[in-house]
Amino acid sequence: MEKKKETMPPGRQVVMSGIRPTGFLHLGNYFGAIQNYVKMQDDFECYFMVADLHSLTTHPDTKELKQNVLRVLAENIACGLDPEKAAFYCQSHVHETAELYLYLNMMAYKGELEKTTTFKDKVRQHPQNVNAGLLTYPVLQAADIVIHRAKYVPVGKDQEQHLEMARTFANRFNHRYGEVLPEPTAFNYNRQLIKVPSLDGTGKMSKSENPNATIYLADEDDVIRKKVMKTKTDAGPTQQNSVKPDYIDNIFGLMKLVSVNDVVAKFEDDYNACTIRYGDMKKQLAEDMVNFIAPIRNKVNDILNNEKYLKEVMEKGAAKANASANATMKLVRQAMGLNYY
Ligand code: ADP
Repeated sequence: MEKKKETMPPGRQVVMSGIRPTGFLHLGNYFGAIQNYVKMQDDFECYFMVADLHSLTTHPDTKELKQNVLRVLAENIACGLDPEKAAFYCQSHVHETAELYLYLNMMAYKGELEKTTTFKDKVRQHPQNVNAGLLTYPVLQAADIVIHRAKYVPVGKDQEQHLEMARTFANRFNHRYGEVLPEPTAFNYNRQLIKVPSLDGTGKMSKSENPNATIYLADEDDVIRKKVMKTKTDAGPTQQNSVKPDYIDNIFGLMKLVSVNDVVAKFEDDYNACTIRYGDMKKQLAEDMVNFIAPIRNKVNDILNNEKYLKEVMEKGAAKANASANATMKLVRQAMGLNYY
């Protein structure tokens, strides 16, 4: 079969990422994803998506979907995402994604999909709803990304395996039909992908897991304080410069995200000298989190009051995303030999 070499159009590198509208956004979404969106939107051609179709794999009831979609839009904008700079759109508004998903499904094997960590987790969490959409979740995600021929995907560490699968599917497509789809890679400005731990020290903060162990961008000040003050600590180290237990390391990790360097350094010194007072450290962390989240929360509420504006954002985003998807799908169909006239 003749292989045609398609090159990327000249211009800025393409970036794509998405967040599911399955609940309130949290610090993990902010530091794993949105923070990078905001930094990237000036220098890259960005496509950021509300992954409403992905949410159907685990949340088939659509009664609250519209409200959740509007909230995710508002929360991203309140964090600094600028719909004038990036294409900010809903997944279900780009119909060609479903077509590419179908083609990529032929490049994905049952065995590898069943081995995906997130699939195995979801089977454990929803044993009564192990649908094919859940199994092929990484294929739909690959379609979302490669439909814009994106090179960089700002995501948290939990998405590393999915990104590797997206590369595999893109490579198989290119190998079979010709070079159309660039290999996407996970991206974080600090190079290392971020995992924001849950406050109870088990796993990551998540929209769908223990709400008391996750700090949401919508949390009121007192709720934030209560959650932080409840985190597990102990009597403190008894030997100087000792290794931190995971649950203490997590508290330092959270502090590094929201507190200034001097504050973190002070508590590091106290820890190493065995003089640390965890009560003081948590109070400081709680106040720094409140100061970080309160302005975002207030902005979200203002934006949510303006549904007309959010509709315009979605329309504008869909137009940009559809133009990019149409261009890729022309190349895809041509490479596959699906252009009969
Ligand atoms: P959730 O797991 O909370 O439902 P999504 O699956 O919608 O979140 O993921 C949206 C983005 O947020 C992804 O880029 C994901 O990597 C990132 N993300 C989610 N949770 C965390 C976390 N605890 N730490 C870092 N990044 C995270």
